[in-house]
Amino acid sequence: MLNPKKMWGQNFLRNPRAARDIVAALQPAGDDIVLEIGPGDGALTRELVTLGRPVRAIEIDPELAARLRKTFGDKLDLVEGDATDAPLPEEPFRAAGNLPYNVATPIVRRVITNPNCRRAVFMLQKEVVDKIVARPSEEEYGYLSLFVRIYADARQLFTLPPNSFFPKPKVWSAVVLLDPVDRPLQSAKEDLVALVSWSFRMRRKTLANNLAGFRDLDKRGAEESIEAASFDPRVRAEALSLEQFDALATVIRSRG
Ligand code: SAM
Repeated sequence: MLNPKKMWGQNFLRNPRAARDIVAALQPAGDDIVLEIGPGDGALTRELVTLGRPVRAIEIDPELAARLRKTFGDKLDLVEGDATDAPLPEEPFRAAGNLPYNVATPIVRRVITNPNCRRAVFMLQKEVVDKIVARPSEEEYGYLSLFVRIYADARQLFTLPPNSFFPKPKVWSAVVLLDPVDRPLQSAKEDLVALVSWSFRMRRKTLANNLAGFRDLDKRGAEESIEAASFDPRVRAEALSLEQFDALATVIRSRG
């Protein structure tokens, strides 16, 4: 008998078609192996092992890990651990998972910034996917949209209602496809992440107000940098695209 544990975000997928669609979207190539985050009772795992590639999975719940070992035997390389800090594969991999909601965002960030990740297909709360795929000036656009865009292209594949899971979550879910990309940017990715993070500290404030205190900028220096990058000094962070943040980072860097 399954005894779902809330603290580990256990809402098990009960929609075989969605499981097949997630796995079909992975499209492993070359020597890619498959990584599953949070296999649970195996709804996705059953499909993943049919891909004919090594499948590694990271599951935190010892009870579920024992069940998975019994069900899948040597078809599954099961790591019992926490996917927020367990080692990720050293070889090229494609990741899939119906992610536990409480740690979904850190896991997305960790996977797409890993140099061996070739693609990730994740089920998340729809609200989080809306943030990931949002474009400048849309309500959901913010730090997470830009963070993901620095590292990957993101596309929503489909949504699922609460009754696709047991137990039923309170909210809708959505599946997002993430393809790591190397964009032609002037700035180092880590520098852009730092700038974007400061820029969205307080949503109601202007960009210049948020940037006072970033590196050696005071409010005046922030306004000058924003103007030098050809933006209105009263602009808000949510109006700027990644390329525009890149231009601003270049100006701030050139101030020394
Ligand atoms: N993949 C299964 C499915 O689709 O039915 C289970 C999905 S359930 C939403 C999330 C799974 O992640 C659970 O099995 C839970 O025990 C596991 N989990 C929760 N936190 C975790 C963590 N930090 N690291 C690894 N697994 C975790």
